[in-house]
Amino acid sequence: FQRRTFPRVIQSYTRLASTMAPQLKDPSLLKQNVCYVNGEWVSAKSGKTFEVHDPSTGKLIGTAPEFDEADTKTAIKAAASAFETFRHKTGRERSKLLRKWYDLMIENQDDLAKLITWENGKPMADAKGEVTYAANFFEWFSEEAPRIYGDVIPSSVPGNRVLTLKEPIGVCGLITPWNFPAAMVTRKIGPALASGCTVVAKAPGETPFTSLAIAELAHRAGIPAGVVNVITANANTPAVGQVLTTDPTIRKISFTGSTGVGKLLMKQCSSTLKKLSLELGGNAPFIVFDDADVDVAVAGAIASKFRSSGQTCVCANRIFVQAGIYDEFAKKFAEKVKTFKVGNGFEEGITHGPLIHDRAISKVEAHVRDAEKKGAKVVVGGNKMPELGPNYFQPTVITHMTTEMAMAEEETFGPVAGLFKFSTEEEVVKIANSSEVGLAGYFFSRDIERVHRVAEHLEVGMVGVNTGLISDPAAPFGGVKESGFGREGSLYGISEYQVTKMVTYGGM
Ligand code: NAD
Repeated sequence: FQRRTFPRVIQSYTRLASTMAPQLKDPSLLKQNVCYVNGEWVSAKSGKTFEVHDPSTGKLIGTAPEFDEADTKTAIKAAASAFETFRHKTGRERSKLLRKWYDLMIENQDDLAKLITWENGKPMADAKGEVTYAANFFEWFSEEAPRIYGDVIPSSVPGNRVLTLKEPIGVCGLITPWNFPAAMVTRKIGPALASGCTVVAKAPGETPFTSLAIAELAHRAGIPAGVVNVITANANTPAVGQVLTTDPTIRKISFTGSTGVGKLLMKQCSSTLKKLSLELGGNAPFIVFDDADVDVAVAGAIASKFRSSGQTCVCANRIFVQAGIYDEFAKKFAEKVKTFKVGNGFEEGITHGPLIHDRAISKVEAHVRDAEKKGAKVVVGGNKMPELGPNYFQPTVITHMTTEMAMAEEETFGPVAGLFKFSTEEEVVKIANSSEVGLAGYFFSRDIERVHRVAEHLEVGMVGVNTGLISDPAAPFGGVKESGFGREGSLYGISEYQVTKMVTYGGM
């Protein structure tokens, strides 16, 4: 990364403060500071709010309502009442609503992207990409809504007929994280609405404004009142979570976030036996075999490891490189990382933004220091960047990693790439699978037999072969082991929001 860009970035803060911030506060730019319940914009009944800060500067962006248990119950009631009507809309009607919502997201791509960059910190180009990706879930599921079919099953009893009906499960509670403020929520709402469900979505405390802006577009798209409710809370989050997971009206919870919170929500859901989807943390192995195209592997590792400054659940967390090409890969990879331009995501040409908050910085720093202490070598970066702002960390490359280091076990969730050396396929697959979590895994090889073998042996829910980017609304996204269960996107994603009802017709 280029240190010489720093003064330019610092100068830019003055310009941003004078031009960008007032522009962003323009209400036409979708920023709402109230929640969306039953088709109306509402504050918390207590009047309490919480502050949201720009991770780039630490400055206040605005406040959002601090919803409590009673506020949450009001939203659930609205969703339950709307469900009675919405479930009977035809697939075609639901499809048109989702398509309109998709169109509005694309029309408002720039404004949504500005909100994402403002509250999440990722560069504008990435934020725009996220808006497209997020909107694509509405498009994809608008196309699926009219094609929800049951089956006709030959009965084993003479004269009987067996049919299955795919019915919407009911009111759904959705809880999403800050790292993809737009895509995580549309990935859940799209299939829920396509199926005929209604939702109460709890936005992340760090990035509530993107979810609220998407709710504003739901309103403009004509989504009926109560079908989509978006609520916010920060300090009260566990209380809101408690209501969502225990209220008997809610029939399904879909959660994306950390494994710890996922386990807690699963326990809470047990009292009312809700259907549950959990998209949890990862510790993705990224394996480069000697027979790989090294340049392709380097590009894949850069994309996978450093997108959103390493704050993606599918990002490469452990990069294993076979001994024969380790030095060449490490050199080329480090050279690429040195070209990154770190700074405020609104700045032209910035490739990598800040981390979300100081806790993220502390974790990343602890992982780097731990690796150094245990014998690893920091070849690029390795330190905080206070000269840029409170939450910046240098894109970092570390060689000579070993499995005793914290980064081998825990999700770093930051811009730090640790390179491990391995000798054999058997050895690396064993180490890759030693993790308790299994979300994504990647490997690079040009040996067709190895490609099939390793893809089948990795204990993960998603495999990237000769690519570092795997997210696609058309493909099932989800994990195994402690990365959770359930799939989002694709036809599999829609079944998460359905009940299969069997009907037997006797004596026909
Ligand atoms: P987190 O679990 O702390 O928070 C996620 C969401 O849960 C937020 O909205 C938060 O407010 C809410 N929450 C926290 N405690 C809660 C409680 N007691 N009851 C109800 N809701 C509660 O996770 P995070 O640190 O914000 O997000 C990063 C994590 O998310 C990483 O582990 C990452 O791997 C994971 N993630 C997974 C996927 C996936 O698809 N598998 C995608 C993105 C992020």
